[in-house]
Amino acid sequence: MKKETWKELPLGCVNVHPGNSRENLTGTWRSGLKPEFIAEPCIHCMFCWLYCPHFAIIVEDGVMKAINYNYCTGCGLCAEECPTKPKSIVMVKEEVKLAEGGKK
Ligand code: SF4
Ligand code: SF4
Repeated sequence: MKKETWKELPLGCVNVHPGNSRENLTGTWRSGLKPEFIAEPCIHCMFCWLYCPHFAIIVEDGVMKAINYNYCTGCGLCAEECPTKPKSIVMVKEEVKLAEGGKK
């Protein structure tokens, strides 16, 4: 088989399918822990939105509303950075992962 040279290979770091991040549900990577939002102590500082690497924090009119589990990987950054005491986001064990048929 003839090896491709750099002239034939596609450019690296080019997204040839723009918009595919909507279809690729990163929530299926979740490892067994997921964040739970507790609205009462939330001061809507948006730290969780700022730190979330997957844009999984749902905000409406400047108010933290919920977590989009389709895209949440369970990294825990939102819970770690939430400044309220008690925390407005806590990590909880997920019994059935999204990838195994769990709820979104
Ligand atoms: S970081 Fe905590 S207090 Fe701030 S908006 Fe998010 S849940 Fe609310
Ligand atoms: S656990 Fe990670 S991916 Fe999920 S909402 Fe929090 S910061 Fe985003």
